Amino acid sequence: MPGDGRSVTVPSPPPPGAISDDWSHRLSRDLTAICGFDGIIRWASGSWEDDLTSSAGTLVGRHFLELVHPEDVEISAAALRVAVNGDDQTKHLENRCRAADGEYRWLHWSWAADPEEQLLYAIARDITERKLADMRLVDSEARYRLMAENSSDAITESNREGVFNYVSPAGQTVFGWRPQDMVGRDIYEFIHPDDVEGLRAGLHDLLTDPGVLTISARFRRADGSYRWLESTGQQIRDSDTGKLLAVIGNTRDVNARRTAQDALTRQAQTDPLTGTANRTVLTDRMRGALLRLERTPGTVAVLLIDLDHFKRVNDSLGHRVGDEVLVATAQRLVAACRPSDSVARYGGDEFVVLAEGLTSAEDVHELAERLVVVLREPFQVSGPMPGDEQSLLLTVSVGVAVTTRADQPVEDLMHEADLALYRAKDRGRDRHELFDGELQARALRRLGIQRALRLALAGQDMYLLYQPIVRISDGQVLGAEGLLRIRDGAGGALAPGEFLTVAEDTGLIRELDDWVLRQALADQTSFRAVDPALFVGINLSYRNVSAGQFAEWVTTALTDAGLPGTALRVELTERALLDPAGPSVAGVQRLRNAGVRVGLDDFGTGHSSLYSLQRLPLDFLKIDRSFAQDVAPGSRQAAIVRAIVDLAHAYDLEVVAEGIESPEQLAGVEQIGCDSGQGWLFSQPLDAADYRRLLLTQHSRPTARAAGDTEQVEPPVGIEPTTYSLRVNRSTN
Ligand code: C2E
Ligand code: MG
Ligand code: MG
Repeated sequence: MPGDGRSVTVPSPPPPGAISDDWSHRLSRDLTAICGFDGIIRWASGSWEDDLTSSAGTLVGRHFLELVHPEDVEISAAALRVAVNGDDQTKHLENRCRAADGEYRWLHWSWAADPEEQLLYAIARDITERKLADMRLVDSEARYRLMAENSSDAITESNREGVFNYVSPAGQTVFGWRPQDMVGRDIYEFIHPDDVEGLRAGLHDLLTDPGVLTISARFRRADGSYRWLESTGQQIRDSDTGKLLAVIGNTRDVNARRTAQDALTRQAQTDPLTGTANRTVLTDRMRGALLRLERTPGTVAVLLIDLDHFKRVNDSLGHRVGDEVLVATAQRLVAACRPSDSVARYGGDEFVVLAEGLTSAEDVHELAERLVVVLREPFQVSGPMPGDEQSLLLTVSVGVAVTTRADQPVEDLMHEADLALYRAKDRGRDRHELFDGELQARALRRLGIQRALRLALAGQDMYLLYQPIVRISDGQVLGAEGLLRIRDGAGGALAPGEFLTVAEDTGLIRELDDWVLRQALADQTSFRAVDPALFVGINLSYRNVSAGQFAEWVTTALTDAGLPGTALRVELTERALLDPAGPSVAGVQRLRNAGVRVGLDDFGTGHSSLYSLQRLPLDFLKIDRSFAQDVAPGSRQAAIVRAIVDLAHAYDLEVVAEGIESPEQLAGVEQIGCDSGQGWLFSQPLDAADYRRLLLTQHSRPTARAAGDTEQVEPPVGIEPTTYSLRVNRSTN
């Protein structure tokens, strides 16, 4: 050993076998050697040959330090000194020794000294692999720390509970806390209450999933403010035991991005005017609520709220006031609901409240009624002058649908609420209605009717019945009213009472009335062949007479049919007359100028007022059949109706009595002065062929006009004789 200055006596090798049989075999892969206190190798086991040198023989006689890596010579020499001085019986050393190929190998030495013989019995184990791995680890740890300390992201190390063990310097900026103030505290202390649940779920996933996971949450800074942070986390586990060592987090501030994103999302989800959820979000929430029913049985209630006559507010006070009302409505709805309910603007003046977990029907009614009541309170809105305020009274109608079924489609539920709303409107508004099975049945029926209407229009599967209108004084048939029937596909026919509202609601009424107009005129040609003075009356829906072109529509049909205006009578409803957008005086006058007679139907049923008689220049008035039933001669009603008839006459109107079923009724209407009439007493509505036959019968018997008799005529085929009677020739002249 260089420099230790001790003389070296080379001992004779130990007896062969003592080492090879014992050590060498037991310690198989280990290298064994005997070295003198002087450092000279006296003997080396055969394994040296394979692992380290070309041959064991070449080692013997060389100084131990000759093999050692220059950087390790110092510690190796020191170790030898300690061993020789006998400071301890057994020593260890790790150093690099050169192998035959010139490469160094890491060896772990241990030895025992024999002071008597001045020998060291040494075993070396090749630990090169482990040593390199260790070095790599140290290396990467150093690198990692370097990165952590210099990264602008905050690097944290925490345990499975989320307690910080390490926070890198950037934590100061990112978290807004001094790193040392965070260590030892758990992350949940810093998280916004609304984000805790999400973070907990995220950490749970992180601990079960070996991958990398990104979580965002609002983090409370030392100054109390919150910022959105995003953290990429990964778990570190011991590769042998699988034990969790740490959770490493890489956190950055994403507040600006997140805030912008949130604003965008809010924008996409809210109604810009009222700030409530919009239709899209509502639909999503409804889906969510229905899905929850799958797990937790309960109820989902949808309340569809519509402001009554809102259009009038917009039209008369302007859109700015309209908007103020909508905003205030939204606020009142939100205030009237529980925080867990959703309020959404569904359309122009329609709102929806989605409520979960209402347990009884009373709860549902109670909530709906609360909404109706809070919106009944006057609204304070801007007045006509800047700075003015005015108070506005409005009401709402609410349609409610409730379900307990998770599989009920959202669209169905909305449709049911819509039907209930429709009914609330129908029953006078300012109220709520709950959807029920009866409404459902009605809805189905309406659908069936709609289908029948479309089919009928496509295949012209409809026909007109004609009910004769006779002169009261002599029973002379003056003409007939055309009444529409639609074949229902089952051999029967639908009467207008069943299909009119559907036709009006769907707009099909336009085509229907047009068909009736043209068909009636076409049939009229054959009726007038019997009696050229006959008229045909048709009913026009209020929907078709409010259009500005209604007079032209009718006169064009007359021209097309080649008939004079006198061949036609048009019956308007009271609804048409009351509608401000109803037929114009000029339009009606144009029709009258063309010879068409225009009259009001069903007088006395709706909000009949004598005003309606003045509004338009009319030719006739049809008194509803309920009057015919009430006007027994001498009765009080008779006196009232008589006054109406007199007034109508004063306006030069012909008065037609409807629904005359009995001779008594006939006597009644005659006494109060009605000019003409229709009803079962004279004839049921007949199809065109039967009506024509009836006309022929009447005209072939001019001599049968004997005084004041009701005469049975041959009933046309298919008409019950008892209901088919035509009173003819009551006149004495
Ligand atoms: P309306 O114009 O008042 O027609 C008279 C209705 O009374 C007819 O019912 C007729 O069948 C019925 N009637 C006639 N005599 C008697 C009677 O002695 N006793 C009773 N109880 N009823 C009698 P219908 O055909 O069901 O028509 C109902 C309503 O439908 C009509 O009332 C009319 O307003 C409307 N309408 C009929 N056809 C059309 C049409 O083509 N277009 C439009 N827009 N409406 C029509
Ligand atoms: Mg009519
Ligand atoms: Mg009528």
